[in-house]
Amino acid sequence: MSDSVKYLLDEKDLPRFWYNIVADLPNPPTPALHPGTGLPIGPDDLAVLFPRAVIEQEVSTEREIEIPGPVRDIYRQWRPSPLYRARRLEKALDTPARIYYKYEGVSPAGSHKPNTAIPQAFYSREEGVRRIATETGAGQWGSSLALAGAFFGLDIEVFMVKVSFRQKPYRRAFMESFGATCIASPSDLTAAGRAVLTDNPDSTGSLGIAISEAVERAVARDDTKYALGSVLNHVLLHQTVIGQEAMAQMEMADDYPDMIIGCTGGGSNFGGIVFPFLGEKLRGGRDVEIIAVEPSNCPTLTKGAYAYDYGDTAHLTPLVKMHTLGSNFVPPGFHAGGLRYHGMAPLVSQVVAEGMASARSYHQNECFEAGLQFARAEGIIPAPEPNHAVRAAIDEAVACRERGESRAILFNLCGHGHFDMQAYTDYLEGRLHDQDYSETELAMALSGLPSVESC
Ligand SMILES: *Cc1c(COP(=O)(O)O)cnc(C)c1O
Repeated sequence: MSDSVKYLLDEKDLPRFWYNIVADLPNPPTPALHPGTGLPIGPDDLAVLFPRAVIEQEVSTEREIEIPGPVRDIYRQWRPSPLYRARRLEKALDTPARIYYKYEGVSPAGSHKPNTAIPQAFYSREEGVRRIATETGAGQWGSSLALAGAFFGLDIEVFMVKVSFRQKPYRRAFMESFGATCIASPSDLTAAGRAVLTDNPDSTGSLGIAISEAVERAVARDDTKYALGSVLNHVLLHQTVIGQEAMAQMEMADDYPDMIIGCTGGGSNFGGIVFPFLGEKLRGGRDVEIIAVEPSNCPTLTKGAYAYDYGDTAHLTPLVKMHTLGSNFVPPGFHAGGLRYHGMAPLVSQVVAEGMASARSYHQNECFEAGLQFARAEGIIPAPEPNHAVRAAIDEAVACRERGESRAILFNLCGHGHFDMQAYTDYLEGRLHDQDYSETELAMALSGLPSVESC
């Protein structure tokens, strides 16, 4: 086995196709339903929100979808991204496990999100769209779409959850640097925002509310579309460049993962690294254990219902079958803003529900502890979200030590934490608390799930 710590592919090895797991799943995905009629939606229903090319990808059953040349040209700026063997972390843990991580923090926005922002902006421009409205929680998605908008000459309007807008002024500055407009949500620009503010003028917002605002803006204007940074099939599709590269890099390392770990907010970085390997397994290839990791305070996969639900608070989005805590569930405060969504990608939900992956949850303090242990060994400060994956990888490596077992563990380090240093300061000063979500509020949110005939 090679001694390297870093596995780099050539530019010519940049994937030419996105991989669509739908072609290999044992069961077809469940259809999305129209929020008004409850009937399966067709491409026409979505055309007001998304470009045609994106809608085709959303419902595609083709195994491989070609990546357009102009998208590959931009990917090439930071892709293929590196895969590292965490030798110093292995040593610190005194584990016989072989730990690998794929690092997506090398993108200009510092996370995996540009992998989908670039193609979504590209297809919009191709179809004559002038403006894209979107939402952002922690700011990673808004930053990525702002970047993509600058590349393709589009106006980007970002509704940023108010609590993050206040906590993360540099994320806002990042978006504005690329020419995007950033609005604190709830805002008085939309009926959805005004309704929330009338009820609660002090609302600090939520992703569900911000989505409602962005969707309303897209519906209101012909030249404006909407873009989502996670959850939907086409987003997970675009992220599969991560796993395809990782497969080639594991081959360079003359190794294969026994286990793949990803953190799950809406499921896109997880699907991105996992699906190419899972597809290989489903086609009769090597076995691999797959673990999704989420915050204990927003435990979508581990405590949610697997049911049809809305993607937003105002119920403007289609209904999809997914693990959900209910569209009105508001998790208590914690720092991994990217993991605060009430739902989960339908494809990730299906993979977990059908036993192809397991899920577990951690509280934030134990995740920051793992993140710092990783940083001190490997020199990269992870974003609070992938600290969940780091926690699980370290726990698994320690379990290997206790069992005297050498397994290959691969996890996705989907972003760096350079915009999240306040969270690290809070952790280091002992100011982070592991609050629990309220069981009563979760039960109430779940009791509000829509009843849908066809499921
Ligand atoms: C957005 C984000 C997440 C959560 O989204 P997924 O779709 O689950 O990947 C996790 N980590 C980082 C760094 C993010 O930017």
